[in-house]
Amino acid sequence: MDCLFCKIAGKEIKSEIVWENNELMAFKDIQPLAPVHVLLIPKKHIQSLVDIKGSDQPLIGEIFSAVSIVAEKLGIKEQGFQILVRTGKSGGQEVPHLHVHILQGTRF
Ligand code: AMP
Ligand code: ZN
Repeated sequence: MDCLFCKIAGKEIKSEIVWENNELMAFKDIQPLAPVHVLLIPKKHIQSLVDIKGSDQPLIGEIFSAVSIVAEKLGIKEQGFQILVRTGKSGGQEVPHLHVHILQGTRF
């Protein structure tokens, strides 16, 4: 599939990986909007938040649990941070592979 984040998940395209397990990967955003800006993705291709199927529910739970793991890894768990999931054209989503922005240091 010709999807940028699938290629990053498959390591066909290099990224600065912060954390990963079998199903998920967190890597630094190439154009950071804040002092800390990391993207958390499922390795499986899901286009966006509105494309989640019932069978993806366990994976969605894993994504939210992993936010905390990644925040700890980044040293921002205690002070707090923001997450952002752009969805669809009007939502400003540019990469059509579900991703959670984890941002710290700038208020949006
Ligand atoms: P969105 O607008 O929510 O779809 O966000 C896509 C994000 O992916 C943007 O913040 C981009 O800077 C980021 N991005 C695009 N290409 C790469 C890449 N090769 N490695 C890391 N981040 C990327
Ligand atoms: Zn993909």
